[in-house]
Amino acid sequence: MELRLYDTLTKAKRPFTPLDPSNVRMYVCGPTVYDFAHIGNARPIIVFDVLFRLLRHLYGEKHVTYVRNITDVDDKINVRAARDFPGLPLNEAIRKVTELTEKQFHEDVDALGALRPTVEPRATEHIVEMRELIERLVHGGFAYVAEDHVLFSPQAMNTAKSVLPRYGALSNRSLDEMIAGSRVDVAPYKRDSTDFVLWKPAKPGEPSWQSPSGISVPGRPGWHIECSAMAWKHLGEQFDIHGGGIDLVFPHHENELAQSACAFHSDRMANVWMHNGFLQVESEKMSKSTGNFITIRESLAEWPGEVLRLNMLKTHYRSPIDWTSKALEESARTLDDWYAIAGDARSGQPSDAVIDALSDDLNTPQMITSLHGLRNAAASGNHRDAFAATLRLLGFLSESKAEWKSRKQRASGVDAKQIDDLISNRAAARARKDFKESDRIRDELAAMGVVIKDSKEGTTWEIAR
Ligand code: AMP
Ligand code: ZN
Repeated sequence: MELRLYDTLTKAKRPFTPLDPSNVRMYVCGPTVYDFAHIGNARPIIVFDVLFRLLRHLYGEKHVTYVRNITDVDDKINVRAARDFPGLPLNEAIRKVTELTEKQFHEDVDALGALRPTVEPRATEHIVEMRELIERLVHGGFAYVAEDHVLFSPQAMNTAKSVLPRYGALSNRSLDEMIAGSRVDVAPYKRDSTDFVLWKPAKPGEPSWQSPSGISVPGRPGWHIECSAMAWKHLGEQFDIHGGGIDLVFPHHENELAQSACAFHSDRMANVWMHNGFLQVESEKMSKSTGNFITIRESLAEWPGEVLRLNMLKTHYRSPIDWTSKALEESARTLDDWYAIAGDARSGQPSDAVIDALSDDLNTPQMITSLHGLRNAAASGNHRDAFAATLRLLGFLSESKAEWKSRKQRASGVDAKQIDDLISNRAAARARKDFKESDRIRDELAAMGVVIKDSKEGTTWEIAR
């Protein structure tokens, strides 16, 4: 089945045709590194990792370039640095915050089974490209200098006679309505309320760089220009897929698209714009004040990363997802079962049914239905290696069956040796047809929270949650 993806810009599911099948290119907006990522941030990580894996499967591992940036210049970083390292010069404190947060982020996404992207560019290493884009935009008449700022003018973009897309097309807004609806306290250096910052002067002590366009004071980039510059540097003027969470459509992606299209006099930035829906926790918006704000790190203390991963994929990526303990418990039971059946299987060919489900705009609920079918076949001894290969392709079964089991035992404090002994005593009792004794042992195990399953392959056990 051909790959079809839903595009936010054209609001349609369309066949995916790469610009260059020998180098399929995807950009996803990455984290601003100042604090632990939360479980909502894990959604784009997991969703676009599944897409990355699918593209590698379809086009070949060496023929996909996945870029996910690290935003390491931002007000939130500066505030955190001053708070956490008050004794250090600000620049040093900032470096400490960004290095530490980046390390935590990598540990988290590795534990979620996400492959590292091909390139993870840092904003501070692409200031030259940002300045060049800004110069181009000023020369083209799309941006102007005012009070040491450089501002982009959506009005100028929409009145230019050229191939450019319309500002507002991605987020389905009209510029006139945006102007009419904008608040009155617009910064004095803006010609229009909808103009946005490409570059601004730095405050004393903040990280700063030589400014573009003849501005004499040092400055720092706006957020949107960072992604346009990094995508250009690593993927070229146009590329295949641009992704992120739905909240990024406006203003971030609308502005990235505007900057890149105007800088390169192009009708597009990416061929497909993909956005994941939002995650809420136990039916409520995640917020620190209501106490249902969960970091990936906290979730990983309670659940293996693969459980979080499976739980995330049960919902289609464009729908909202309600993150509940009940669903997580069910995902954990599913993975215990999959590990028991395929954890020690060799790898074969991944299943076509699963690839087809993913090829339909990443239909992961359908993918999971197919996995259950494969599981049932594998449980009766058919195509266990195909089931295992499919799970591994999707980022599951990264541990051996024994590792998975011993992790559960550590988590529950159960003594595996004792359980194995009871199970072999039970088998012996059954062999001599002492069913009273074998039932007694089964009940003893159940009282310990151990569930046993008999099959042709022998008896397996797991801890009931
Ligand atoms: P941020 O750090 O807020 O820029 O977010 C990083 C990524 O996580 C972006 O792609 C966001 O769209 C996404 N994101 C943030 N919060 C949520 C959420 N609650 N559910 C799903 N995605 C989210
Ligand atoms: Zn971005």
